[in-house]
Amino acid sequence: MQQPIQSIVIVGGGTAGWLSAGVIAARLNATQEKPVKVTLIESPNIPIVGVGEGTWPTMRNTLKKMGVRETDFIRECHVSFKQGAKFARWHTGKTEDAYYHPLILPQGFNHINLAPHWQVQPRGTSFSQAVCPQDALCERSLAPKMITTPEYQGLANYAYHLDAGAFSNFLTRHCTETLGVQHILDEVVGIKTANNGDISALLTESGAELAADLFIDCTGFKSKLLGEHYQIPFKSCSDILFADTALAVHLPYQQPDTEIASHTISTAQSAGWIWDIGLASRRGVGHVFASRYTDRDSAYRELAEYAAQTGHKLDNLSVREIPITPGHREKFWHKNCVAVGLSAGFLEPLEASALVLVEISADFIASQLPANRAVMDTVARRFNRTFHYRWERIIDFLKLHYMLTVRDDNDFWIDNRDPVSIPDSLHELIELWRYHPPWDNDFDHATEVFPAASYQYVLYGMGFHTQAHPAGLSAQQKQLAKQAFAKNIEMTQKLASVLPGNRELINKIYRHGLATV
Ligand SMILES: Cc1cc2nc3c(=O)[nH]c(=O)nc-3n(C[C@H](O)[C@H](O)[C@H](O)COP(=O)(O)OP(=O)(O)OC[C@H]3O[C@@H](n4cnc5c(N)ncnc54)[C@H](O)[C@@H]3O)c2cc1C
Repeated sequence: MQQPIQSIVIVGGGTAGWLSAGVIAARLNATQEKPVKVTLIESPNIPIVGVGEGTWPTMRNTLKKMGVRETDFIRECHVSFKQGAKFARWHTGKTEDAYYHPLILPQGFNHINLAPHWQVQPRGTSFSQAVCPQDALCERSLAPKMITTPEYQGLANYAYHLDAGAFSNFLTRHCTETLGVQHILDEVVGIKTANNGDISALLTESGAELAADLFIDCTGFKSKLLGEHYQIPFKSCSDILFADTALAVHLPYQQPDTEIASHTISTAQSAGWIWDIGLASRRGVGHVFASRYTDRDSAYRELAEYAAQTGHKLDNLSVREIPITPGHREKFWHKNCVAVGLSAGFLEPLEASALVLVEISADFIASQLPANRAVMDTVARRFNRTFHYRWERIIDFLKLHYMLTVRDDNDFWIDNRDPVSIPDSLHELIELWRYHPPWDNDFDHATEVFPAASYQYVLYGMGFHTQAHPAGLSAQQKQLAKQAFAKNIEMTQKLASVLPGNRELINKIYRHGLATV
Protein backbone atom coordinates (compact mmCIF):
# COMPACT_ATOMS: atom_id res chain seq x y z
CA MET A 1 0.00 0.00 0.00
CA GLN A 2 2.92 2.36 0.65
CA GLN A 3 4.79 1.50 -2.57
CA PRO A 4 5.01 4.57 -4.82
CA ILE A 5 2.89 4.50 -8.00
CA GLN A 6 5.46 3.73 -10.66
CA SER A 7 3.57 2.49 -13.67
CA ILE A 8 0.43 3.47 -15.55
CA VAL A 9 -1.18 1.48 -18.35
CA ILE A 10 -3.61 3.27 -20.65
CA VAL A 11 -5.93 1.03 -22.67
CA GLY A 12 -7.06 2.64 -25.92
CA GLY A 13 -5.34 4.69 -28.61
CA GLY A 14 -8.05 7.17 -29.57
CA THR A 15 -7.83 10.88 -28.76
CA ALA A 16 -8.62 10.20 -25.09
CA GLY A 17 -5.84 7.62 -24.73
CA TRP A 18 -3.14 9.64 -26.42
CA LEU A 19 -4.08 12.96 -24.81
CA SER A 20 -4.01 11.25 -21.40
CA ALA A 21 -0.66 9.63 -22.19
CA GLY A 22 0.81 12.94 -23.37
CA VAL A 23 -0.44 15.05 -20.47
CA ILE A 24 0.63 12.50 -17.86
CA ALA A 25 4.02 11.64 -19.38
CA ALA A 26 4.91 15.31 -19.93
CA ARG A 27 4.04 16.21 -16.37
CA LEU A 28 5.40 13.22 -14.49
CA ASN A 29 8.57 12.77 -16.46
CA ALA A 30 9.41 16.44 -16.21
CA THR A 31 8.75 16.83 -12.49
CA GLN A 32 9.86 13.57 -10.94
CA GLU A 33 13.33 12.24 -10.37
CA LYS A 34 12.04 8.72 -10.92
CA PRO A 35 9.67 9.07 -13.88
CA VAL A 36 6.45 7.08 -13.82
CA LYS A 37 6.40 4.55 -16.66
CA VAL A 38 3.49 5.21 -19.06
CA THR A 39 2.41 2.44 -21.44
CA LEU A 40 -0.43 2.66 -23.96
CA ILE A 41 -1.96 -0.51 -25.39
CA GLU A 42 -4.43 -0.34 -28.24
CA SER A 43 -6.15 -2.97 -30.28
CA PRO A 44 -5.01 -3.18 -33.92
CA ASN A 45 -8.50 -4.52 -34.76
CA ILE A 46 -10.85 -2.04 -33.08
CA PRO A 47 -10.84 1.31 -34.90
CA ILE A 48 -11.01 4.63 -33.06
CA VAL A 49 -14.34 6.49 -33.27
CA GLY A 50 -12.63 9.00 -35.60
CA VAL A 51 -14.97 11.92 -35.00
CA GLY A 52 -14.61 14.78 -32.53
CA GLU A 53 -13.11 17.57 -34.55
CA GLY A 54 -14.10 20.70 -32.62
CA THR A 55 -12.10 21.67 -29.53
CA TRP A 56 -12.20 24.21 -26.73
CA PRO A 57 -9.43 26.86 -26.21
CA THR A 58 -7.98 24.72 -23.41
CA MET A 59 -6.42 22.53 -26.13
CA ARG A 60 -3.78 25.21 -26.72
CA ASN A 61 -2.43 24.91 -23.21
CA THR A 62 -2.74 21.13 -23.23
CA LEU A 63 -0.61 20.82 -26.38
CA LYS A 64 1.85 23.45 -25.21
CA LYS A 65 2.39 21.62 -21.92
CA MET A 66 3.01 18.43 -23.87
CA GLY A 67 5.79 20.20 -25.76
CA VAL A 68 3.99 20.13 -29.12
CA ARG A 69 4.95 22.81 -31.65
CA GLU A 70 1.75 24.53 -32.78
CA THR A 71 3.12 24.80 -36.34
CA ASP A 72 3.60 21.00 -36.57
CA PHE A 73 0.15 20.35 -35.14
CA ILE A 74 -1.49 22.77 -37.58
CA ARG A 75 0.33 21.32 -40.58
CA GLU A 76 -0.12 17.65 -39.73
CA CYS A 77 -3.68 17.61 -38.37
CA HIS A 78 -5.25 19.79 -41.11
CA VAL A 79 -6.11 22.30 -38.42
CA SER A 80 -8.05 25.52 -38.82
CA PHE A 81 -8.78 28.15 -36.19
CA LYS A 82 -12.10 28.15 -34.36
CA GLN A 83 -13.44 31.30 -32.72
CA GLY A 84 -16.80 30.07 -31.54
CA ALA A 85 -20.01 28.51 -32.74
CA LYS A 86 -22.86 29.95 -34.75
CA PHE A 87 -26.29 28.57 -33.90
CA ALA A 88 -28.71 28.88 -36.80
CA ARG A 89 -32.47 28.27 -36.49
CA TRP A 90 -32.36 27.15 -32.87
CA HIS A 91 -34.70 29.83 -31.51
CA THR A 92 -37.53 30.46 -33.96
CA GLY A 93 -36.42 28.17 -36.78
CA LYS A 94 -36.68 31.03 -39.30
CA THR A 95 -33.99 31.67 -41.94
CA GLU A 96 -32.67 34.83 -40.25
CA ASP A 97 -32.58 33.23 -36.77
CA ALA A 98 -28.92 32.93 -35.69
CA TYR A 99 -26.62 33.82 -32.82
CA TYR A 100 -22.99 33.32 -31.83
CA HIS A 101 -21.34 31.74 -28.84
CA PRO A 102 -17.91 33.34 -29.22
CA LEU A 103 -14.79 32.44 -27.22
CA ILE A 104 -13.92 35.93 -25.95
CA LEU A 105 -15.41 37.12 -22.66
CA PRO A 106 -17.68 40.16 -22.92
CA GLN A 107 -15.74 43.44 -22.80
CA GLY A 108 -14.67 44.36 -19.23
CA PHE A 109 -16.13 41.11 -17.86
CA ASN A 110 -13.96 41.14 -14.74
CA HIS A 111 -15.42 44.43 -13.54
CA ILE A 112 -18.79 44.96 -15.21
CA ASN A 113 -21.73 42.79 -16.24
CA LEU A 114 -22.85 44.32 -19.55
CA ALA A 115 -25.99 42.23 -19.93
CA PRO A 116 -28.41 44.59 -18.11
CA HIS A 117 -26.96 47.58 -19.98
CA TRP A 118 -27.34 45.82 -23.33
CA GLN A 119 -30.96 44.97 -22.47
CA VAL A 120 -31.96 48.62 -22.05
CA GLN A 121 -30.23 49.71 -25.26
CA PRO A 122 -32.31 50.28 -28.36
CA ARG A 123 -32.49 46.93 -30.15
CA GLY A 124 -30.62 46.15 -33.33
CA THR A 125 -27.29 44.84 -32.13
CA SER A 126 -27.16 41.28 -30.84
CA PHE A 127 -25.67 40.67 -27.39
CA SER A 128 -22.52 39.03 -28.75
CA GLN A 129 -22.02 41.84 -31.30
CA ALA A 130 -22.44 44.50 -28.63
CA VAL A 131 -19.96 43.02 -26.16
CA CYS A 132 -17.31 41.17 -28.16
CA PRO A 133 -15.59 41.47 -31.56
CA GLN A 134 -15.65 37.78 -32.44
CA ASP A 135 -19.09 37.73 -34.04
CA ALA A 136 -17.79 40.17 -36.67
CA LEU A 137 -14.50 38.27 -37.11
CA CYS A 138 -16.37 35.01 -37.73
CA GLU A 139 -18.76 36.64 -40.22
CA ARG A 140 -15.66 37.62 -42.25
CA SER A 141 -13.93 34.18 -41.81
CA LEU A 142 -10.92 35.85 -40.19
CA ALA A 143 -8.14 34.17 -38.23
CA PRO A 144 -7.57 35.00 -34.54
CA LYS A 145 -3.90 35.89 -35.04
CA MET A 146 -1.27 36.98 -37.54
CA ILE A 147 1.72 35.06 -38.91
CA THR A 148 3.94 37.15 -36.59
CA THR A 149 1.90 36.19 -33.48
CA PRO A 150 3.90 33.54 -31.58
CA GLU A 151 2.68 29.96 -31.22
CA TYR A 152 -0.35 29.49 -28.94
CA GLN A 153 -0.88 33.25 -28.57
CA GLY A 154 -3.75 35.08 -30.20
CA LEU A 155 -5.15 38.55 -30.76
CA ALA A 156 -8.54 36.92 -30.21
CA ASN A 157 -9.16 33.82 -28.08
CA TYR A 158 -9.30 30.66 -30.17
CA ALA A 159 -9.67 26.89 -30.25
CA TYR A 160 -9.16 24.48 -33.14
CA HIS A 161 -10.94 22.41 -35.73
CA LEU A 162 -8.85 19.30 -36.38
CA ASP A 163 -8.85 16.01 -38.27
CA ALA A 164 -9.51 13.40 -35.56
CA GLY A 165 -7.73 10.53 -37.34
CA ALA A 166 -4.65 12.63 -38.13
CA PHE A 167 -4.64 13.96 -34.55
CA SER A 168 -4.41 10.47 -33.03
CA ASN A 169 -1.49 9.60 -35.34
CA PHE A 170 0.22 12.91 -34.56
CA LEU A 171 -0.14 12.35 -30.79
CA THR A 172 1.12 8.76 -31.16
CA ARG A 173 4.34 9.99 -32.73
CA HIS A 174 4.82 12.80 -30.24
CA CYS A 175 4.14 10.64 -27.18
CA THR A 176 6.34 7.75 -28.27
CA GLU A 177 9.21 9.71 -29.85
CA THR A 178 9.40 12.70 -27.49
CA LEU A 179 7.73 11.75 -24.22
CA GLY A 180 8.88 8.17 -23.84
CA VAL A 181 5.44 6.52 -23.82
CA GLN A 182 5.67 2.80 -24.54
CA HIS A 183 3.23 1.74 -27.29
CA ILE A 184 1.83 -1.80 -27.58
CA LEU A 185 -0.44 -2.97 -30.40
CA ASP A 186 -2.46 -5.81 -28.86
CA GLU A 187 -6.00 -6.41 -27.64
CA VAL A 188 -6.96 -6.73 -23.99
CA VAL A 189 -8.99 -9.94 -23.69
CA GLY A 190 -8.92 -10.62 -19.95
CA ILE A 191 -8.34 -9.03 -16.58
CA LYS A 192 -6.53 -10.43 -13.55
CA THR A 193 -7.62 -9.13 -10.17
CA ALA A 194 -5.87 -8.89 -6.82
CA ASN A 195 -7.47 -9.83 -3.47
CA ASN A 196 -8.57 -6.24 -2.82
CA GLY A 197 -10.44 -6.11 -6.15
CA ASP A 198 -7.77 -4.02 -7.91
CA ILE A 199 -6.71 -4.88 -11.44
CA SER A 200 -3.34 -6.56 -11.10
CA ALA A 201 -2.72 -7.23 -14.80
CA LEU A 202 -4.30 -7.19 -18.24
CA LEU A 203 -4.22 -10.33 -20.36
CA THR A 204 -3.73 -9.73 -24.05
CA GLU A 205 -4.62 -11.60 -27.21
CA SER A 206 -0.96 -12.37 -27.92
CA GLY A 207 -0.65 -14.04 -24.51
CA ALA A 208 1.14 -11.22 -22.70
CA GLU A 209 0.38 -10.06 -19.15
CA LEU A 210 0.57 -6.35 -18.49
CA ALA A 211 0.86 -5.31 -14.84
CA ALA A 212 0.66 -1.71 -13.54
CA ASP A 213 -0.19 0.33 -10.44
CA LEU A 214 -2.91 2.39 -12.17
CA PHE A 215 -5.02 1.58 -15.27
CA ILE A 216 -6.70 4.23 -17.41
CA ASP A 217 -9.67 2.98 -19.41
CA CYS A 218 -9.78 4.82 -22.75
CA THR A 219 -11.50 2.01 -24.66
CA GLY A 220 -14.23 4.23 -26.06
CA PHE A 221 -17.91 3.25 -25.91
CA LYS A 222 -16.83 -0.32 -24.95
CA SER A 223 -15.66 0.85 -21.52
CA LYS A 224 -13.78 -2.42 -21.22
CA LEU A 225 -12.41 -1.93 -17.69
CA LEU A 226 -14.84 0.34 -15.85
CA GLY A 227 -18.03 -0.76 -17.60
CA GLU A 228 -17.49 -4.39 -18.65
CA HIS A 229 -15.13 -5.54 -15.90
CA TYR A 230 -16.25 -3.48 -12.90
CA GLN A 231 -19.88 -3.18 -14.05
CA ILE A 232 -20.10 0.46 -12.94
CA PRO A 233 -23.64 1.43 -13.98
CA PHE A 234 -24.28 3.86 -16.80
CA LYS A 235 -26.44 6.86 -15.93
CA SER A 236 -28.46 7.73 -19.01
CA CYS A 237 -29.68 11.30 -19.54
CA SER A 238 -31.76 10.59 -22.64
CA ASP A 239 -34.75 12.06 -20.79
CA ILE A 240 -32.91 15.44 -20.89
CA LEU A 241 -30.82 15.27 -24.09
CA PHE A 242 -32.75 13.42 -26.77
CA ALA A 243 -30.23 12.96 -29.63
CA ASP A 244 -29.21 9.31 -30.06
CA THR A 245 -27.76 8.97 -33.58
CA ALA A 246 -25.23 10.80 -35.72
CA LEU A 247 -24.73 10.60 -39.49
CA ALA A 248 -21.24 11.86 -40.31
CA VAL A 249 -19.66 12.68 -43.67
CA HIS A 250 -16.60 14.45 -45.05
CA LEU A 251 -17.27 17.11 -47.69
CA PRO A 252 -14.31 18.03 -49.92
CA TYR A 253 -13.80 21.70 -50.78
CA GLN A 254 -14.76 22.54 -54.36
CA GLN A 255 -11.62 24.70 -54.74
CA PRO A 256 -8.34 24.35 -52.79
CA ASP A 257 -8.50 28.02 -51.78
CA THR A 258 -12.13 28.01 -50.57
CA GLU A 259 -12.58 30.19 -47.48
CA ILE A 260 -12.58 28.30 -44.18
CA ALA A 261 -15.23 29.31 -41.67
CA SER A 262 -13.63 30.37 -38.38
CA HIS A 263 -16.46 28.90 -36.31
CA THR A 264 -18.45 25.71 -36.01
CA ILE A 265 -21.78 26.12 -37.77
CA SER A 266 -24.61 24.37 -35.91
CA THR A 267 -27.84 24.43 -37.84
CA ALA A 268 -31.00 23.15 -36.18
CA GLN A 269 -33.10 20.64 -38.13
CA SER A 270 -36.54 19.18 -37.51
CA ALA A 271 -35.39 16.81 -34.74
CA GLY A 272 -31.73 17.60 -34.16
CA TRP A 273 -28.98 19.69 -35.67
CA ILE A 274 -26.18 19.59 -38.25
CA TRP A 275 -22.57 20.37 -37.35
CA ASP A 276 -20.30 21.86 -39.98
CA ILE A 277 -16.61 22.05 -39.17
CA GLY A 278 -14.25 23.56 -41.73
CA LEU A 279 -10.77 22.06 -41.66
CA ALA A 280 -7.90 23.08 -43.91
CA SER A 281 -8.39 19.95 -46.04
CA ARG A 282 -12.18 19.38 -46.03
CA ARG A 283 -15.35 19.99 -44.05
CA GLY A 284 -16.59 17.53 -41.45
CA VAL A 285 -20.38 17.58 -41.43
CA GLY A 286 -22.84 15.51 -39.45
CA HIS A 287 -26.48 15.32 -38.47
CA VAL A 288 -27.20 14.52 -34.81
CA PHE A 289 -30.82 13.56 -34.38
CA ALA A 290 -33.28 11.90 -32.02
CA SER A 291 -34.72 8.72 -33.51
CA ARG A 292 -37.75 9.03 -31.22
CA TYR A 293 -38.81 12.07 -33.26
CA THR A 294 -37.60 11.36 -36.79
CA ASP A 295 -36.47 8.35 -38.80
CA ARG A 296 -33.08 7.73 -40.37
CA ASP A 297 -34.29 8.37 -43.93
CA SER A 298 -35.69 11.79 -43.05
CA ALA A 299 -32.50 12.66 -41.15
CA TYR A 300 -30.44 11.49 -44.13
CA ARG A 301 -32.59 13.65 -46.45
CA GLU A 302 -32.00 16.74 -44.31
CA LEU A 303 -28.26 16.08 -44.35
CA ALA A 304 -28.39 15.58 -48.14
CA GLU A 305 -30.19 18.92 -48.55
CA TYR A 306 -27.54 20.60 -46.41
CA ALA A 307 -24.70 19.07 -48.44
CA ALA A 308 -26.44 20.02 -51.71
CA GLN A 309 -26.20 23.70 -50.76
CA THR A 310 -22.48 23.47 -51.52
CA GLY A 311 -22.89 21.26 -54.55
CA HIS A 312 -22.31 17.87 -52.89
CA LYS A 313 -24.33 14.75 -53.62
CA LEU A 314 -24.50 12.69 -50.44
CA ASP A 315 -25.15 9.44 -52.30
CA ASN A 316 -21.62 9.69 -53.78
CA LEU A 317 -19.99 10.00 -50.36
CA SER A 318 -19.44 7.64 -47.46
CA VAL A 319 -21.88 8.43 -44.63
CA ARG A 320 -21.17 6.82 -41.24
CA GLU A 321 -23.93 6.13 -38.76
CA ILE A 322 -22.87 6.40 -35.11
CA PRO A 323 -25.29 5.49 -32.31
CA ILE A 324 -25.08 7.64 -29.18
CA THR A 325 -26.42 6.87 -25.71
CA PRO A 326 -26.25 10.18 -23.87
CA GLY A 327 -25.04 9.80 -20.30
CA HIS A 328 -22.08 8.87 -18.15
CA ARG A 329 -20.87 6.24 -15.68
CA GLU A 330 -22.08 6.62 -12.09
CA LYS A 331 -18.46 6.92 -11.07
CA PHE A 332 -15.31 7.33 -13.07
CA TRP A 333 -12.53 6.13 -10.76
CA HIS A 334 -12.99 2.75 -9.09
CA LYS A 335 -10.25 0.78 -7.27
CA ASN A 336 -7.07 1.36 -9.35
CA CYS A 337 -8.91 2.12 -12.60
CA VAL A 338 -10.06 5.48 -13.95
CA ALA A 339 -12.05 6.03 -17.16
CA VAL A 340 -11.33 8.94 -19.49
CA GLY A 341 -13.10 9.80 -22.75
CA LEU A 342 -16.03 7.90 -24.23
CA SER A 343 -15.53 5.06 -21.73
CA ALA A 344 -16.54 7.54 -18.98
CA GLY A 345 -19.52 8.80 -20.98
CA PHE A 346 -20.70 10.96 -23.84
CA LEU A 347 -23.59 13.40 -24.16
CA GLU A 348 -23.62 14.69 -27.71
CA PRO A 349 -21.31 16.73 -29.97
CA LEU A 350 -22.88 20.13 -29.13
CA GLU A 351 -20.32 22.68 -27.84
CA ALA A 352 -17.37 20.26 -28.16
CA SER A 353 -17.54 19.33 -24.48
CA ALA A 354 -15.98 15.83 -24.74
CA LEU A 355 -12.35 16.62 -25.53
CA VAL A 356 -12.21 19.35 -22.91
CA LEU A 357 -13.34 16.78 -20.32
CA VAL A 358 -10.56 14.47 -21.50
CA GLU A 359 -8.05 17.29 -21.06
CA ILE A 360 -9.15 18.21 -17.55
CA SER A 361 -9.42 14.55 -16.49
CA ALA A 362 -5.86 13.87 -17.67
CA ASP A 363 -4.66 17.04 -15.99
CA PHE A 364 -6.31 15.99 -12.70
CA ILE A 365 -4.71 12.53 -12.86
CA ALA A 366 -1.29 13.98 -13.70
CA SER A 367 -1.34 16.73 -11.09
CA GLN A 368 -2.91 14.68 -8.29
CA LEU A 369 -1.44 11.28 -9.05
CA PRO A 370 -1.75 9.30 -5.81
CA ALA A 371 1.66 8.90 -4.21
CA ASN A 372 0.82 5.27 -3.37
CA ARG A 373 -2.12 2.82 -3.24
CA ALA A 374 -2.96 3.84 0.34
CA VAL A 375 -4.10 7.31 -0.72
CA MET A 376 -5.65 6.28 -4.04
CA ASP A 377 -9.21 5.83 -2.73
CA THR A 378 -9.15 9.37 -1.35
CA VAL A 379 -7.98 10.78 -4.68
CA ALA A 380 -10.60 8.64 -6.45
CA ARG A 381 -13.39 10.03 -4.24
CA ARG A 382 -12.29 13.58 -4.99
CA PHE A 383 -12.03 12.82 -8.72
CA ASN A 384 -15.54 11.32 -8.74
CA ARG A 385 -16.99 14.30 -6.87
CA THR A 386 -15.36 16.85 -9.19
CA PHE A 387 -16.30 15.06 -12.38
CA HIS A 388 -19.85 14.39 -11.28
CA TYR A 389 -20.17 18.11 -10.88
CA ARG A 390 -18.57 18.76 -14.29
CA TRP A 391 -20.86 16.30 -16.12
CA GLU A 392 -23.99 17.73 -14.47
CA ARG A 393 -23.03 21.33 -15.37
CA ILE A 394 -22.33 20.32 -18.98
CA ILE A 395 -25.71 18.56 -19.19
CA ASP A 396 -27.34 21.78 -17.93
CA PHE A 397 -25.44 23.91 -20.42
CA LEU A 398 -26.28 21.69 -23.40
CA LYS A 399 -29.94 21.53 -22.39
CA LEU A 400 -30.06 25.33 -22.25
CA HIS A 401 -29.59 25.41 -26.04
CA TYR A 402 -32.74 23.36 -26.52
CA MET A 403 -35.07 24.47 -23.76
CA LEU A 404 -35.25 28.14 -24.81
CA THR A 405 -36.53 27.37 -28.29
CA VAL A 406 -39.94 28.59 -29.43
CA ARG A 407 -39.97 26.20 -32.40
CA ASP A 408 -43.04 24.02 -32.64
CA ASP A 409 -42.54 22.33 -36.01
CA ASN A 410 -41.71 18.98 -34.36
CA ASP A 411 -42.43 17.47 -30.93
CA PHE A 412 -38.65 17.26 -30.51
CA TRP A 413 -38.56 21.01 -29.86
CA ILE A 414 -41.81 21.13 -27.91
CA ASP A 415 -40.72 18.30 -25.60
CA ASN A 416 -37.34 19.93 -25.12
CA ARG A 417 -39.00 22.83 -23.30
CA ASP A 418 -41.26 20.58 -21.26
CA PRO A 419 -40.29 21.22 -17.59
CA VAL A 420 -40.09 17.46 -16.88
CA SER A 421 -37.10 17.25 -19.25
CA ILE A 422 -35.24 20.10 -17.54
CA PRO A 423 -32.89 19.25 -14.63
CA ASP A 424 -33.77 20.94 -11.32
CA SER A 425 -30.33 22.56 -11.22
CA LEU A 426 -30.93 24.26 -14.58
CA HIS A 427 -34.47 25.17 -13.67
CA GLU A 428 -33.17 26.94 -10.57
CA LEU A 429 -30.59 28.91 -12.55
CA ILE A 430 -33.20 29.99 -15.09
CA GLU A 431 -35.42 31.25 -12.26
CA LEU A 432 -32.45 33.17 -10.88
CA TRP A 433 -31.59 34.66 -14.27
CA ARG A 434 -35.09 36.01 -14.77
CA TYR A 435 -34.09 38.60 -12.18
CA HIS A 436 -30.34 38.96 -12.61
CA PRO A 437 -28.05 38.14 -15.53
CA PRO A 438 -25.61 35.21 -15.16
CA TRP A 439 -22.47 35.98 -13.21
CA ASP A 440 -19.53 33.88 -12.04
CA ASN A 441 -20.69 33.58 -8.43
CA ASP A 442 -23.92 31.84 -9.56
CA PHE A 443 -21.78 28.68 -9.79
CA ASP A 444 -20.19 26.54 -7.09
CA HIS A 445 -16.72 26.23 -8.62
CA ALA A 446 -14.28 29.03 -9.38
CA THR A 447 -13.39 27.41 -12.71
CA GLU A 448 -16.27 26.10 -14.76
CA VAL A 449 -16.01 24.27 -18.09
CA PHE A 450 -18.61 26.74 -19.38
CA PRO A 451 -18.32 30.04 -17.50
CA ALA A 452 -21.13 32.52 -16.80
CA ALA A 453 -20.21 34.37 -20.01
CA SER A 454 -21.09 31.28 -22.07
CA TYR A 455 -24.52 31.17 -20.43
CA GLN A 456 -25.00 34.86 -21.25
CA TYR A 457 -24.20 34.31 -24.92
CA VAL A 458 -26.65 31.42 -25.23
CA LEU A 459 -29.42 32.95 -23.11
CA TYR A 460 -29.49 36.32 -24.84
CA GLY A 461 -28.79 34.76 -28.23
CA MET A 462 -31.93 32.67 -27.69
CA GLY A 463 -34.05 35.73 -26.85
CA PHE A 464 -34.13 35.28 -23.06
CA HIS A 465 -35.10 38.34 -21.04
CA THR A 466 -33.79 39.23 -17.57
CA GLN A 467 -35.98 41.76 -15.78
CA ALA A 468 -34.31 45.04 -14.90
CA HIS A 469 -33.35 45.22 -11.22
CA PRO A 470 -35.78 47.49 -9.27
CA ALA A 471 -32.81 49.48 -7.94
CA GLY A 472 -31.90 50.41 -11.53
CA LEU A 473 -28.40 50.99 -12.86
CA SER A 474 -26.13 53.53 -11.20
CA ALA A 475 -24.70 56.47 -13.14
CA GLN A 476 -21.21 55.07 -12.55
CA GLN A 477 -22.17 51.66 -13.96
CA LYS A 478 -23.82 53.32 -16.95
CA GLN A 479 -20.64 55.26 -17.64
CA LEU A 480 -18.50 52.11 -17.38
CA ALA A 481 -20.86 50.27 -19.70
CA LYS A 482 -20.80 53.07 -22.24
CA GLN A 483 -17.00 52.95 -22.27
CA ALA A 484 -17.02 49.14 -22.62
CA PHE A 485 -19.46 49.21 -25.57
CA ALA A 486 -17.35 51.91 -27.26
CA LYS A 487 -14.16 49.94 -26.63
CA ASN A 488 -15.75 46.89 -28.23
CA ILE A 489 -16.57 48.85 -31.39
CA GLU A 490 -13.00 50.14 -31.51
CA MET A 491 -11.50 46.67 -30.95
CA THR A 492 -13.78 45.11 -33.57
CA GLN A 493 -12.70 47.66 -36.20
CA LYS A 494 -9.05 47.30 -35.28
CA LEU A 495 -9.01 43.49 -35.33
CA ALA A 496 -11.06 43.29 -38.52
CA SER A 497 -8.57 45.58 -40.25
CA VAL A 498 -5.41 43.66 -39.28
CA LEU A 499 -6.38 39.98 -39.10
CA PRO A 500 -5.86 37.76 -42.18
CA GLY A 501 -8.44 35.26 -43.40
CA ASN A 502 -8.49 31.83 -41.76
CA ARG A 503 -7.37 30.16 -45.03
CA GLU A 504 -4.77 32.86 -45.73
CA LEU A 505 -3.12 32.36 -42.33
CA ILE A 506 -3.17 28.56 -42.60
CA ASN A 507 -1.44 28.80 -46.01
CA LYS A 508 1.19 31.12 -44.53
CA ILE A 509 1.78 28.72 -41.64
CA TYR A 510 2.29 25.89 -44.14
CA ARG A 511 4.92 28.00 -45.90
CA HIS A 512 6.71 29.80 -43.06
CA GLY A 513 5.57 28.37 -39.70
CA LEU A 514 4.67 30.43 -36.63
CA ALA A 515 7.29 32.02 -34.43
CA THR A 516 8.12 30.06 -31.26
CA VAL A 517 8.08 32.07 -28.04
C1 LIG B 1 -20.78 11.93 -33.53
C2 LIG B 1 -19.75 12.43 -32.57
C3 LIG B 1 -19.24 13.72 -32.72
C4 LIG B 1 -18.32 14.21 -31.78
N1 LIG B 1 -17.87 15.50 -31.90
C5 LIG B 1 -17.04 15.99 -30.94
C6 LIG B 1 -16.54 17.33 -31.03
O1 LIG B 1 -16.79 18.07 -31.97
N2 LIG B 1 -15.73 17.75 -30.03
C7 LIG B 1 -15.37 16.96 -28.98
O2 LIG B 1 -14.69 17.43 -28.06
N3 LIG B 1 -15.77 15.68 -28.93
C8 LIG B 1 -16.58 15.18 -29.87
N4 LIG B 1 -16.96 13.88 -29.83
C9 LIG B 1 -16.35 13.00 -28.81
C10 LIG B 1 -14.96 12.57 -29.30
O3 LIG B 1 -15.06 11.94 -30.55
C11 LIG B 1 -14.32 11.62 -28.29
O4 LIG B 1 -14.35 12.18 -27.02
C12 LIG B 1 -12.88 11.36 -28.65
O5 LIG B 1 -12.73 10.94 -29.97
C13 LIG B 1 -12.25 10.35 -27.72
O6 LIG B 1 -12.64 9.04 -28.04
P1 LIG B 1 -11.98 7.86 -27.21
O7 LIG B 1 -10.51 7.95 -27.35
O8 LIG B 1 -12.56 7.87 -25.86
O9 LIG B 1 -12.53 6.55 -27.93
P2 LIG B 1 -12.14 5.88 -29.34
O10 LIG B 1 -11.71 6.85 -30.35
O11 LIG B 1 -13.31 5.00 -29.69
O12 LIG B 1 -10.89 4.95 -29.00
C14 LIG B 1 -11.03 3.71 -28.34
C15 LIG B 1 -9.70 2.99 -28.36
O13 LIG B 1 -9.80 1.87 -27.51
C16 LIG B 1 -9.21 0.76 -28.14
N5 LIG B 1 -9.78 -0.45 -27.55
C17 LIG B 1 -11.07 -0.79 -27.37
N6 LIG B 1 -11.18 -1.99 -26.79
C18 LIG B 1 -9.91 -2.44 -26.60
C19 LIG B 1 -9.35 -3.62 -26.06
N7 LIG B 1 -10.11 -4.60 -25.59
N8 LIG B 1 -8.00 -3.73 -26.03
C20 LIG B 1 -7.19 -2.76 -26.49
N9 LIG B 1 -7.69 -1.61 -27.01
C21 LIG B 1 -9.02 -1.46 -27.07
C22 LIG B 1 -9.51 0.94 -29.61
O14 LIG B 1 -8.61 0.20 -30.42
C23 LIG B 1 -9.28 2.45 -29.72
O15 LIG B 1 -7.90 2.70 -29.92
C24 LIG B 1 -17.86 13.37 -30.74
C25 LIG B 1 -18.35 12.07 -30.64
C26 LIG B 1 -19.28 11.59 -31.53
C27 LIG B 1 -19.78 10.19 -31.39
